[in-house]
Amino acid sequence: MGNVQSESSSPIILAENLTKVYSSGPIQVTAVRGVSLAVDAGEFVAIVGPSGSGKSTLFYLLGGLTKATQGRVVIDGIDFATLSDGERTRLRRHRIGFVFQKFNLLPTLSAMGNIEIAYAVSGRKEPLDLKHLDRLCDLLSIQGRLKHRPSELSGGEQQRVAIARALIARPAIVLADEPTGNLDTQNSDAVLQMLLRSNRELGQTTLMITHNPEAASIASRILYMRDGEIVREEKGSRPDLALPASGVAWPAASAASIVV
Ligand code: ADP
Repeated sequence: MGNVQSESSSPIILAENLTKVYSSGPIQVTAVRGVSLAVDAGEFVAIVGPSGSGKSTLFYLLGGLTKATQGRVVIDGIDFATLSDGERTRLRRHRIGFVFQKFNLLPTLSAMGNIEIAYAVSGRKEPLDLKHLDRLCDLLSIQGRLKHRPSELSGGEQQRVAIARALIARPAIVLADEPTGNLDTQNSDAVLQMLLRSNRELGQTTLMITHNPEAASIASRILYMRDGEIVREEKGSRPDLALPASGVAWPAASAASIVV
């Protein structure tokens, strides 16, 4: 298929005819070929496919972490191609929360330091909302681990800290690349619950790469990749997945408080 369009006229994530070719010497690998997709605000989209099908490359393209060989990515109406490198970095920091399979926490900072620095570069004018921080840390069960450095934390704890880091500034978009790939079932569930909760309660748009069909099933829409193309799309099978009691809903920060 390769061409998946939603019905909205202004999707928050738009990819048009995206192609990425890696070249090393005479060898060229087309990792993503002609992918078009549109994600509406508030959707939870999972991208599923076997290893080597181009999921991570698509993730890097959509997050502005690598440049397309052809095609374009428009985030919240802004075309990455129109931005300087600095502007693209700011757009990423201000609008997107990233979660990676290998956590990617800064090793020299404590867990708290990692969360604080993400907030510091998020472009928010208002001071860190300590209630939001507390709630995130409670829901992720990391309150007792905040003073520790990543090397002193288990993989599951590191990923839960990475989720707090991604969500602390209430980004409009959360991009997660195999967020449960290195985790046991219990930690996977905690991470997926948190992504689902923030998607529903903060109205975030969530796009998660996974090779795990069970993880994908929590999404509202699942896109299947093969050989660099999106070949099939279906609805998630668990759209009414119950969440544990959530307490007070998170207030979403107003767009006006974000400086880009
Ligand atoms: P997935 O995330 O589905 O495993 P990737 O996007 O990582 O797929 O890879 C898609 C294809 O692109 C694979 O054939 C992979 O070997 C190749 N590839 C990925 N990154 C690079 C790179 N930096 N240089 C060359 N080839 C790459």
